Amino acid sequence: MKECAIGIDLGGTNLKGLIIERDGSARHLTKMLTEAERGGARVLENILTMIDTLVRKEGSNGHIIGIGIGTPGFVSEDGVVWGAENLPGWAGTQLYEPIAGRFSLPAVAANDVTVMALAEALFGAGRGVRNLVCYALGTGIGGGIVIDHKLYKGTSGMAGELGHVSVETNGILCNCGQRGCVERYASATGIVFLAKELAAACPDADISPFVKEVRANPDGVTSRMVYGYAAEGDPVACAVNERVCDMLARAIGITLNTLSPDRVVLGGGVLQAGQIIIDTVKKYLPEYCWPMIRERCDIVAAALGEEAGVMGAGAMVFDK
Ligand SMILES: [Zn+2]
Repeated sequence: MKECAIGIDLGGTNLKGLIIERDGSARHLTKMLTEAERGGARVLENILTMIDTLVRKEGSNGHIIGIGIGTPGFVSEDGVVWGAENLPGWAGTQLYEPIAGRFSLPAVAANDVTVMALAEALFGAGRGVRNLVCYALGTGIGGGIVIDHKLYKGTSGMAGELGHVSVETNGILCNCGQRGCVERYASATGIVFLAKELAAACPDADISPFVKEVRANPDGVTSRMVYGYAAEGDPVACAVNERVCDMLARAIGITLNTLSPDRVVLGGGVLQAGQIIIDTVKKYLPEYCWPMIRERCDIVAAALGEEAGVMGAGAMVFDK
């Protein structure tokens, strides 16, 4: 049988696993509950159960060359998880030794969003290019950097924290302790914040249907709603989009001048708004990036769906 790897994607609610080959063809996608509320030891046990299930579906593990895991937080070189505040008891878990002990297979683990970048680079919107940067715009902003087809983790293992590039002096305070992180403006959370801010500041003469709805039901504001109104041309919703994309363009400009990648991939739930975000970012980018660098870089939407994380996790085994 062809060489293959096991990919595991650890989410707050669900644990996903599959078998993947070097060319990205995948099989046996399997899901189970993470059971984060039962603590780190239970989560680890569930990961081992998932691996066992996948090995049994394959019939043997002779052709499996390793196990890749995407996890919230970060992973030290020797396989200890840290960070990951949303999974109680998970920080401090040693991942590699129990897997090697039970299955005699090497494991490799990294941040769950970072591995999505690897999946996009190898099998999705970055297929065929050498250098790529990926932004995942969700509740927060995650990222990943792929250089020469390989995931770049940096000295600390934390490289690719693109959501915490600061884009405004004395800007909004971020959960991370910095001010002006792009995540405060261009994540779903940031977009909702800006929508409420602009709606509150809107003069009576300019109140639009969007402003009316935000003021009537501030707790119901979502990034999807903002972009629904923006698509209809509501002036205040469009102004929110301009501000969001200006901030995002600042962050992307810094990354482009630093790395000069072939491609920037934008993904995550916010990108369901579609081309409007990419077009507006491109409009602002010339203010923040050298033309010679910008002209050689495409900005595109992510191509893989919600399986990107689990595919990227498995792909790390080949990447190593
Ligand atoms: Zn931050």
